[in-house]
Amino acid sequence: MADCLFCKIVAGDIPSTKVYEDESCYAFRDINPQAPTHILVVPKAHVSSIAQIGDLNKDVIADLMTAIGRIAEQERLENGFRVVSNCGPDACQSVPHLHFHILGGRKMGETMA
Ligand code: AMP
Ligand code: ZN
Repeated sequence: MADCLFCKIVAGDIPSTKVYEDESCYAFRDINPQAPTHILVVPKAHVSSIAQIGDLNKDVIADLMTAIGRIAEQERLENGFRVVSNCGPDACQSVPHLHFHILGGRKMGETMA
């Protein structure tokens, strides 16, 4: 999508700190980290949020989930980590390209919201 920030990052038109890439996914460090490790995992194909994840090929959905596990291992998050995907205004989604936050490196808060 022409005017999408994360599509531009995937295309390399906007710089990012890459941590992982495969055929269908790209992962990079969040510019405003909320934890010692804060990574965003996105599909290379544009869908706006998890509400539209059904528009992705099922192999891509599987690759996204597999990538999360691989990145956690690569980042040595063996003590645990949290995965978050904000969807829509009530969840304060600020970038309308599906992304999964991987948060780790410290004990997370006990409440989720
Ligand atoms: P969300 O609010 O769930 O839509 O998450 C969007 C995330 O993208 C936020 O955590 C931002 O800090 C992050 N972000 C925005 N612009 C960039 C960028 N250019 N590079 C890396 N992360 C970004
Ligand atoms: Zn996009």
